[in-house]
Amino acid sequence: MVDSREGKLLQTVEELSDDIIDFSSRLIAEPSILGNEHSVLRVAETEFRHLEYNPKKIFIDPQELSKKPEFAPVPWDYDGRYNIVSVRPADGKGGKSALFNGHLDVVSPEPLNQWSRDPFTPYIENGWLYGRGSGDMKSGVAAMTYAVKAIDKAGFGLAAPVTLETVIEEECSGNGALACRVQGIDADAVLIPEPFGPTILTAQVGVCWFKVSLVGSPSHVLSTQSGVNAIEKSFVLIAALRKLEVQLNSHSHPAYVDIPHPINLNVGGISGGDWPSTVPADAEVKCRLAFFPGTSFTEIQSLIKQTIFDAADKDEWLSRNLPTVEFYGFRSEGHQVDADLPAFKLLSGCQQDLTGKAALQFISTCTTDLRSFIQFSKAQATCFGPVAENIHASDERVNLASVIHTAKVYALFLARWCKLVE
Ligand SMILES: [Zn+2]
Repeated sequence: MVDSREGKLLQTVEELSDDIIDFSSRLIAEPSILGNEHSVLRVAETEFRHLEYNPKKIFIDPQELSKKPEFAPVPWDYDGRYNIVSVRPADGKGGKSALFNGHLDVVSPEPLNQWSRDPFTPYIENGWLYGRGSGDMKSGVAAMTYAVKAIDKAGFGLAAPVTLETVIEEECSGNGALACRVQGIDADAVLIPEPFGPTILTAQVGVCWFKVSLVGSPSHVLSTQSGVNAIEKSFVLIAALRKLEVQLNSHSHPAYVDIPHPINLNVGGISGGDWPSTVPADAEVKCRLAFFPGTSFTEIQSLIKQTIFDAADKDEWLSRNLPTVEFYGFRSEGHQVDADLPAFKLLSGCQQDLTGKAALQFISTCTTDLRSFIQFSKAQATCFGPVAENIHASDERVNLASVIHTAKVYALFLARWCKLVE
């Protein structure tokens, strides 16, 4: 049951709908792919300052973070790249603290020719907001921001602090959120508006990235038989990795029994050679592989290496010219949490009161920034967010009604978890 104060709060969120859509659109308009996040950070920072949230920059110090085994080594630098964290202080005592986390980085929109329109010029059609990052997850960031704003605008206070955390590198390393955890930024409950819909995420897989480098033997195409094609040699290793994927899926995990093919290998990039008339002397294959909760990164790392070197061993050329395997970016372990945690029950109750139906559980076959909270925080942490389509694909879009709904559920959650004060 929604009481009269909560009713007023929900009405206030409704009145802020245009601001939520406007902020989402301004975030989407900034092409914040890896290394290019400065302009979206400026837009977010300006908004938080305008809303009087006192935003602070949390820089990512790779030297400091590399002391943690969860730090993902990456081949790029962190100069001038940061997260933004704002804390709305408590107005009273007796509530529990909350933190909303959202990432501002997006994946590349390539190939551009598959989009109906420019991915960074957001537009609305039939209740959907289009653009790269619309679903994943700039509208979620706008929803969480204005859920907090609604508390103030409705004339209420909260009996516990609320933190708004916007981070970078959710899509490749998790080092952004990790930097916040290392600074001790924490709360009793954490909600992340990833676009998985109004569900409560209780399990996610581990994910690691790696790169395999091979050498071949160059030759003129006149005598291709005498050369060794490094690109074609990589097919041997990809086939072996596919077998590993089958093997990993043949073991079950209690959280994943109902999910067909939960463990996915993605061969995400392949490069090598320099032009059509020379046998390529080098090749590089970039992969992403998932693994079940309960498997450590070091375990999956040694399985991957073993798979590659066993396959190389059976190949005349590769056994004499061993490939190298480098782990960079994601090295996130999976997790599973109890669906009955008090924060999850409360969240589900908010969803029930607004829709008549409790929130369903969500078992994820990808990773999210929940990883850093599971490792380093006391929080009961989950994802609950809008409904989106085509994330990481062309014509990404988010359902606007679901964005406003997310903001309402978040506002109601704050009222009940942190406790309203007048
Ligand atoms: Zn995301």
